Amino acid sequence: MSDDNLFDRALVRLEEAANHLKIDQDVIEKLKYPRETTKTRLLIRMDDGSRKSFLAWRCRYDDTRGPTKGGIRFHPDSNIEEVETLAFWMTFKCAVMNLPYGGGKGAVRVDPRALSRSELERLSRAYVQAFATTIGPDRDIPAPDVYTNAMIMGWMADEYNQITGSVSPAVITGKPIALGGSLGRNDATARGGFYLVRHLAEELGLEENHTVAIQGFGNAGQYYAALAAADNNKVVAVSDSTGAIHKPDGLDVDKLIAAKTAGRCIADLADALGARAISPDQLLAVEADLLVPAALEDMITRANAGSIRAKVVLELANGPVTPEADTILNDRGVIVLPDILANAGGVTVSYFEWVQNRQGYYWDLEEIHSRLKKTMEREGRAIWTIGRERNVSARSAAYIHALGRLATAIEAHGTQPFFAG
Ligand code: GLU
Repeated sequence: MSDDNLFDRALVRLEEAANHLKIDQDVIEKLKYPRETTKTRLLIRMDDGSRKSFLAWRCRYDDTRGPTKGGIRFHPDSNIEEVETLAFWMTFKCAVMNLPYGGGKGAVRVDPRALSRSELERLSRAYVQAFATTIGPDRDIPAPDVYTNAMIMGWMADEYNQITGSVSPAVITGKPIALGGSLGRNDATARGGFYLVRHLAEELGLEENHTVAIQGFGNAGQYYAALAAADNNKVVAVSDSTGAIHKPDGLDVDKLIAAKTAGRCIADLADALGARAISPDQLLAVEADLLVPAALEDMITRANAGSIRAKVVLELANGPVTPEADTILNDRGVIVLPDILANAGGVTVSYFEWVQNRQGYYWDLEEIHSRLKKTMEREGRAIWTIGRERNVSARSAAYIHALGRLATAIEAHGTQPFFAG
């Protein structure tokens, strides 16, 4: 098994969790492979009249617990292995949260920042044309992921409706509010992580006004900064793909978000915010109680895990800590709140959106927040308890928790002992 294969590394979690539970081999055999992955090419007319072709995928990893669910990512480095790994993680994430979904994921290999708005729209619509029979409100439900947003989900929902000749908002979540999106979906990933940290603060050893460093300043990172600052915590360092800044007595988060929204890069903001420009790796090593990786996978590795000074790592990104780094952090007593729990607020409010679309009745923001809080606290507490009882990390506990649910569902269809009997 190659060490640098993202998917093989993800499977190690499954095997580890299986060792803790009495699980039928049939269950592992089912969860070891994606059910289906479709690859296609999207041929787009560019603004200059030329045509350009982009690779695209959609993976439906496992649908035992319900229709497959997971975002679509637009990224220049996207590849099939990443899509299948992210779909595997979605399978476990939905099981962790007890949402009636399996796991899926999609991607287009593209740098969306190099496209005009109308090129982006044609690409988004072409994705739905290509996967119109894969997705569906009872089959596979996409959502936003890295470099995709509500506007893109709106184009995609509209394209699906045109193809099917009916209006089915539940085919996709993370839509604009005006097209059946849910209140509270925009900050749901960060808010879920925030509720989790607040609920477990005592166990995590985090004081009420702790310090936070955030890697990645997209949707999840920005909202986390805003929520943490509003709760009297100090955001002392942030980074984006251009660079990082550090200010030990706390950054002005409102100014930071306003500048970022206006299209500025973090690397250019040091002076305006009275902060020091640092390197992205230095961000991981700043003095902060809580480190929030909110960018991409494989950011915390064997090479830099030893320099992390935080007590707690909250994985708002998917897969930001490699297994080797995980072991280093564990050995050093750093608590890692794992992605399949920490960032599950996003898919949880996606689920609320889907429920509202199907019932045609919409909840107010208070209702969304209180349901999200309850779900994060319930599953966070359950995982914390498993970790303590079995003396395992929060990550192992989360996988044990999810695998228990997946196994029960798979076993309900009948496994070998049943047929042998
Ligand atoms: N892309 C997000 C994730 O990785 C959200 C998925 C969803 O809402 O379906 O969890």
